[in-house]
Amino acid sequence: MVKTDEEIEGAVNPTLNPFRLQPVEIVGLKQVTSDVKTYTLRLADGSHFRFLPGQFNMVSVIGIGEAAISMSSDPDELEAIERGTWQHTVRQVGNVTKALDRLQVGDRFFIRGPYGNGWPPGYPLQRVGASRDLAVIAGGVGLAPLRPVVCRRLARKTGRLEILYGARTPEDMLFRDEFRTWAQGGARLMLTADKIADGADWPYRVGLVTALLDEMEILPGQGHIFVCGPEVMMKSVVRELTERGWPPEEVFLSLERRMECGQKTCGRCQVDAVYVCQDGPVFSYAVVKELLGVDI
Ligand SMILES: Cc1cc2nc3c(=O)[nH]c(=O)nc-3n(C[C@H](O)[C@H](O)[C@H](O)COP(=O)(O)OP(=O)(O)OC[C@H]3O[C@@H](n4cnc5c(N)ncnc54)[C@H](O)[C@@H]3O)c2cc1C
Repeated sequence: MVKTDEEIEGAVNPTLNPFRLQPVEIVGLKQVTSDVKTYTLRLADGSHFRFLPGQFNMVSVIGIGEAAISMSSDPDELEAIERGTWQHTVRQVGNVTKALDRLQVGDRFFIRGPYGNGWPPGYPLQRVGASRDLAVIAGGVGLAPLRPVVCRRLARKTGRLEILYGARTPEDMLFRDEFRTWAQGGARLMLTADKIADGADWPYRVGLVTALLDEMEILPGQGHIFVCGPEVMMKSVVRELTERGWPPEEVFLSLERRMECGQKTCGRCQVDAVYVCQDGPVFSYAVVKELLGVDI
């Protein structure tokens, strides 16, 4: 059957065909921890890629598969906008991420996106949460989707910013070389590691990230909290925040669900009427509790 002009256009134009894979080129690579790399990317056709903090791409390696990966860079950094670049920070855990790990600068793979609603849902940061205090609470690679938020808040210099971050060991912490800049920019940084090597020089806490909640200066009613990390960590964080009087409407979580289409179609990430890929991945804790009918 002969295709119409519209069908041919839809097959190649990403605005008409959201499933279309876009080739990207790796223009920079950085080993962040032993199993995490940051990829600096640009679209192979030279066009610009814009996104909101908290959104993600479906990253595709042909012959292997696709994985949801958040953007980890500042979407408003002028130099990156001029160069048309952005970053993904990826822990190698399975098929796609291990295939990515084998790639070098100059190699290409594919993306679809950006997908999802960003922090907090439905609003660019300029409109919500910008003038109020903000605490970000992250576990492990969960700091990656929060880094754009941290960068934006530090650039805007509005409201207090507290960062509570926990990882398995100090060596597993992402973006360690940026902590000093973040602190100098005005962020209050609180760190904890589950365990440290004997005799290690670690002037911070040892234990779970919930141990840091007592050190928070931002109090309920003064701002918002954005949380990202393993579900078990988010569960204990929201339980303890609730006990401390934080209203569920002011706490936002980025949910991690296995997803395939990213288009609110296949139902892989669906929980009742909610599709995590497009209705989320960021939800207020109030929505997670009431709408999804589950704690997380
Ligand atoms: C919105 C969103 C944003 C994300 N952002 C990031 C990010 O910025 N950086 C990042 O590193 N990760 C991120 N992730 C997580 C990432 O998508 C997953 O880790 C993804 O599974 C990696 O794909 P993979 O093909 O490499 O791993 P997979 O092959 O899918 O394996 C992942 C892990 O799950 C296990 N596994 C695989 N299949 C099954 C199964 N059927 N049952 C049980 N266990 C299984 C594997 O053994 C492995 O431990 C994000 C996830 C979501 C939903």
